[in-house]
Amino acid sequence: MFSEKMHALGTSPSVIRDLFEYGNKRKAEIGADKVFDFSIGNPSVEPPEIVKETIEKLLNESDGVSLHGYTSGPGDMSVRMAVSDYIEKTHGAKASPNHIYMTCGAAASLTVTLGALCEDGDEFITFAPYFPEYRVFVESAGAVFKAAKSDKNDLQPDLASLEDLIMPHTKGIILNSPNNPSGVVVSEENIIKLCELLKKKSAEIGHPIVLISDEPYRELVYGDVKVPYLMNYYDDTIVCYSYSKSLSLPGERIGYIAVSDKMTGADDVFFAICGSGRSMGYVCAPSLFQRVIKECQGMTSDISVYEKNRTILLNALTSYGYRCLSPDGAFYLFVEALEKDAKAFSEKAKEYELLLVPSDSFGVEGFVRISYCVSTEQIENSLPAFEALAKAYK
Ligand code: PLP
Repeated sequence: MFSEKMHALGTSPSVIRDLFEYGNKRKAEIGADKVFDFSIGNPSVEPPEIVKETIEKLLNESDGVSLHGYTSGPGDMSVRMAVSDYIEKTHGAKASPNHIYMTCGAAASLTVTLGALCEDGDEFITFAPYFPEYRVFVESAGAVFKAAKSDKNDLQPDLASLEDLIMPHTKGIILNSPNNPSGVVVSEENIIKLCELLKKKSAEIGHPIVLISDEPYRELVYGDVKVPYLMNYYDDTIVCYSYSKSLSLPGERIGYIAVSDKMTGADDVFFAICGSGRSMGYVCAPSLFQRVIKECQGMTSDISVYEKNRTILLNALTSYGYRCLSPDGAFYLFVEALEKDAKAFSEKAKEYELLLVPSDSFGVEGFVRISYCVSTEQIENSLPAFEALAKAYK
């Protein structure tokens, strides 16, 4: 009647969703302003004005037939040219329009890429903590999912741990920087070391290990932090990008895959991406939003609210005795739980109406994730609850 595997996926609980649903129920019971929901990563700032203006312009100036019609499977060529130009001008890297595939966001970029690369017995490795859907995406592509460790102090990738996991069947590495859930941006020094290791191991195992850069948070960085562009460090790179966070458009489902022109067999890899997209029904990403992002290259929502929230939370929580990782990017704060069991700590936090995601589902123990893409008012109102929670452990 149905696939047991898909049924299990559809019914297995997501800790984040459960917490979010609990929050909605609790808000109905005691009032929305009394519940401090930090569970979900939905951008809380408006898309930049240019998004609205472009939509209006397109609706007024274009004829509906071509605006809402199918584009070619990998996307409209003029859009792919704009993306390719932007990558070259901004990052100095080459991914020609023939190596750009428009997608329904980063999730589709990843599933299409994994489907394109995966052969029997392949393995993909990421670093913990990781976005929980990676396991689902990798296993659904028919590959084995493995997680290497990160340094326990700064959560930068632990390369010795990665080296131990690389085997002849290793097909690729998924790197996510800025990282969900930790907010960590991988330093250039570590990128260089990682790429050197991948080159050495590729030579040893006799085939290239592909570096998949999942980067929906690329533009969400604070201060003068730089996010190195991986194609400039490693030839066998595929970028999985999304406008969900940079333009606050998660519900519109728009992103792209960019295959480096320098990648081994880049043209064939791109044909496999087209085939994978076709096999999943992921052809012709939303037509209107392809045209919108064409006009919004390099634009970002006003992230000053996230920066403000981050500073308030970081200072306050540290003063209450929490150990927080100082996040350079994304909109997540990763905080050490005040007891060993992060799930128990998250349950305790609920008594103070604080909804914090325990880190177990991200592949590490002993932390909680706070999504600070909420109003500054919510952050400020939640501080007494964080203080009371810390006191309960003293
Ligand atoms: N990758 C990471 C690390 C994410 O945090 C998310 C969404 O939160 C995604 C991929 C999926 O992004 P999209 O909504 O663009 O599919």
